[in-house]
Formats: sequence, C-alpha cells, structure tokens
Amino acid sequence: MTIRTRFAPSPTGNVHIGNIRAAIYNWLFSRHAGGEFLLRIEDTDQERSTPAAVRTVLESLEWLGLDCDGEPLYQSTQRAHHLEVADRLLAQGAAYKEDKGGTGKGECVIFKMPGTDISFRDAVKGGLTKKAEDLKDFVIVRSDGSPVFHLGNVVDDITMGITHVIRGDDHVENTFKHLALYAAIGAPPPVFAHLPMIVNAQGKPYSKRDGAAYVGEFREKGFLPEALFNSLALLGWSPGDDREVMTREEMVAAFTLERVRSSPSQLDMTKLLWMNGQHLKRRGLDEIAAGCRAAMQRQGLWREDIDPAYFRAVIACMGERIRLFSDLGEQAAFFFTEEYPYDEKSVKKRLRKEGALDLLREELATLEAVEPFTAAATDAALHALAARTGRSMGDLVHPVRVAVSGTGVGPGLFDMLEVLGKERVLARIRRTLAMPVG
Ligand code: GLU
Repeated sequence: MTIRTRFAPSPTGNVHIGNIRAAIYNWLFSRHAGGEFLLRIEDTDQERSTPAAVRTVLESLEWLGLDCDGEPLYQSTQRAHHLEVADRLLAQGAAYKEDKGGTGKGECVIFKMPGTDISFRDAVKGGLTKKAEDLKDFVIVRSDGSPVFHLGNVVDDITMGITHVIRGDDHVENTFKHLALYAAIGAPPPVFAHLPMIVNAQGKPYSKRDGAAYVGEFREKGFLPEALFNSLALLGWSPGDDREVMTREEMVAAFTLERVRSSPSQLDMTKLLWMNGQHLKRRGLDEIAAGCRAAMQRQGLWREDIDPAYFRAVIACMGERIRLFSDLGEQAAFFFTEEYPYDEKSVKKRLRKEGALDLLREELATLEAVEPFTAAATDAALHALAARTGRSMGDLVHPVRVAVSGTGVGPGLFDMLEVLGKERVLARIRRTLAMPVG
C-alpha cells in the first residue's frame, strides 16, 4: 500500500506555523516511506478563500521546499460529490433531514451517530475513547445546501486515498465524528496522528504577539527556509539522538511518528535564531556576504565603496553573532562608518569612570607602537601593559571597545581591532579622547 498523506489548509491569507508544521510532518512521513504527499485546498469558505489566500499557501510550501505530488485538489470542486454521499447516507438511514431549530429556513441533513462508544488509536496520543452519550448527531449539509467541513474533509480524504492524517490536536474531537462517517460510508479510516499545540514560554498558544506566527513573517524577518523547517520539525519530534542542526534529507531519513511527542511544544525565538545562525554558517561566506549586503541595502546602510575583502573580514569576525542577515547592519554598523553612535550606558560605565581616560591614553600610546597590527600583537601589547601597571585585562579591554565601536558588546576585541585596522583604531581612540563627554 502506498503511504499517502496530505496537507489540507483552509486558505485565510496567512499560514500559521502550527499548520505548516503539520504540513512538514506529513511531508517528512510520506517522503520517509517513499509515499506521496498531496495538497488539498479547503476553499469552501468563499469569502476568505481568495486567489491571493491560495497563493500564500502555495508560496509558503514552495519556500519551505514542501513539494506536492500531483495537482492540488480544490475542495470547492467536490461539492456535487459531497452531496451525493450525503444522499446515500440519507438513503441508507445513516442520516436524516430536519428543520433545525424550526427556523423555517429549510432542512439540514443531519448525520446520525451510531449510539456506541467510539475508540481509536492515535499514532501520537495513544488510545482515545469517547462515550456514546457524548457523541451527538451533527449537521453534514446546511439548510442552504452547502456541505459542512466534516463531510467534505472525510469524503475528500477517501477520494484522495489518504492513508495517514497528521494534523493539529484541535481536531481530536472532530476525529470521533469523522470515524463514524467512515464507518457509515463503508470506507476504512486512515491512521490519525494528532500533533500537540505549539505554545509560547508561558504555555499559551503561540501567536503573533510572541514575535512572529506566520510563515510569511519569518520569511520577512530574514529566516532561512531550511532553518524554519528544521526548527518546526524539532517542535514535537526528535531524531532519537542529540542531533539538532539537520538537513531536510537527514530529517526524512530519521522521521517516524513514534518519535513525535504528545506534550505541547514550546517555540523559543532565541533557539530559532540560534538555529538560523547554524544554517547560515552552512551556506558559506559568499552567500552570507550576499545576504548581509542585501539586508544592509534595505536598511540604508550599504555603500558602494565598501571593500569586498573588508566586508568578508567583518563577516568572518562577527562569526556566530550573525544569526539573521539583518544582524550585521543592526549590530555592527560601526565597521562601515565613522558616524557610529555611542551607547550612553557603555560610555558611562567604561569611559566616565575615574581615571578611565588616562588609561585609554596609555592604551593609545601602546597601540601606536604595535606593528604589524595583528590580533595576536595587540593582544600581547595590552597584556604587557596590564602586567606593567597591575591592571586587569577587563580594565583595558572595555574602554578600547567602547571607543572604537561605541558599544560594550561585540566580537572579540583583538580580532575586531585587526579587521578595523591600525589607522581607524587609533583615529577612533583619539576622537573619543577629544569628545566633550570623554
Ligand atoms: N482545513 C482544516 C484545517 O486547516 C483541515 C484539517 C485536517 O487536516 O483535516 O484545520
């Protein structure tokens, strides 16, 4: 039997990461098994399911590399078939017509629950049961003649030959209804796997307020598709060893439903940024340089006279501090301009201290004598100064850092000095010493 999964989004204009994670799991599961991954657009809500909303879904899938087999099935094209099935259910006595609530608007088709408990084994949650008395009859065709979600969803899964339904656990309750429909229609049900919710640090459903919640937002912020893919795949699943940074192929090879956790998965922006940095590194210096350059152009920080070799040296110096392409411009603009701002707090802490400027003058004199101006040489020179004057390296490092970069945080000082070069470093220290604030 060919394993066949599907992603069945209702296009609303945005693709929430919870939904795309379901798509990722369906894709990983079917690719692992050498099966098929299909797309069904549940576009029966005509107002929300605009062509633009559908395009957003398709773009998100494409960006993440979630290739689908065959053409997408648009649920709206299946209406006649849904109604046919409803008629059959009526004919066999599994459904009945009723003017619900006596509104006079006409009759709905209502599915009759079997009157027995319903149980199934969820591939993630294990055995689940719902008592007969908690299973109420439900509408499958509205009085206006439109099929309801439950009917369309089940009938389409049967039409498409879906063997495994992997979806969010907000659908667990629906699954009892769906199983009753499968039984009445006389079709074998698929395996169901319900994924735990994605939550924020407070354990609440993950939303826009937690940073970004839609695929498009992560893309706009500059996340790499492979990093978002990797992070979402690990939200609720693990390969069973301590690997974290993985390629798509490695995840396909390792993916099983048995390793999907049933507890809520916490999405942590810091972790996501770290993951992005890891995948960024794998892309290599040329691509990082191109990405940072494009980001700096958007930020209005790029200048055509930035030397390519210098640009690459800055990127190498920043190393893992670049987690998003935009980080370079945001954290390290001082490499590219003499008009860098001085952070008030750092100035106060490092340069307004008693004796701080005298010390900086001594450091200037020391650095003036360093030749060639390599990281090792400036490091050795300041160490010698520390030993001679009985000061700690911390005392010496911080004032120079603030003087040449305007901030108290950044890459290793001596690497930074080497990249900036002697001339720039000395000029910046002299300028800082001459500033009225000191
Ligand atoms: N359109 C439904 C949703 O997006 C489909 C659920 C399912 O995967 O069956 O929630």
